[in-house]
Amino acid sequence: MKKIIIAIDGFSSCGKSTMAKDLAREIGYIYIDSGAMYRAVTLYCLQNNLIKDGVVNEPELLPRMEQIQISFVLNPGTGKPETCLNGQNVETEIRTLEVSQNVSYVSAIAFVRKAMVAQQQQMGMQKGIVMDGRDIGTTVFPTAELKIFVTASPEIRAQRRFDEMIQKNEVASFDEILENVKHRDYLDQNREESPLRQAKDALLLDNSHMTIAEQKQWLLAQFQRVAEN
Ligand code: C5P
Repeated sequence: MKKIIIAIDGFSSCGKSTMAKDLAREIGYIYIDSGAMYRAVTLYCLQNNLIKDGVVNEPELLPRMEQIQISFVLNPGTGKPETCLNGQNVETEIRTLEVSQNVSYVSAIAFVRKAMVAQQQQMGMQKGIVMDGRDIGTTVFPTAELKIFVTASPEIRAQRRFDEMIQKNEVASFDEILENVKHRDYLDQNREESPLRQAKDALLLDNSHMTIAEQKQWLLAQFQRVAEN
């Protein structure tokens, strides 16, 4: 079986990372959450007062890009990778609503994307990787052997996010989450730099009415079809 690159793109909160993580574990591949990298840069901006009302202080951020080191460590308890910003584990901090509300502004900046894409391409040099995001199949790995584009209705995605936050005992408002989901869809699809879109050779997966188990089975079948050829 040959080693391949699997690119999973799609809208926010449609379960990309759950399925990508699961698949990677099952087939022994490395999993990279590219959204976590943009979230980490956003957290850095918030911590350093480089973003206000959706406006990023780009002249201040540009020279600091070199100081922003993003890495992943495996949590031995959960077996899942967690994100570090300059050596500090920020997996919880990057998932807050404040980061979600600001990340699309940071991820729209050309020099931020250039730096992240370069790091992501480096991570995929040896293949055997599952990466999820918005532009993996179109920009980061345009020659990936298997590309999936995931979608689900905004209401279903907001409900999943809401349930997740309630489960973690976090304060959440369904309407606020739905608003954030729709707003991010709009910003991600309409930005100039690498807008979110389905690559021509990507398989479409609408998981609105699929269980996690059904999704996993479908994905594994796609992987076997491509990797065994
Ligand atoms: O996947 P997640 O929702 O955590 O991603 C957070 C944000 O990061 C997205 O809304 C998008 O603005 C940005 N992103 C991106 N390109 C990627 C991954 C994420 O622009 N490859």
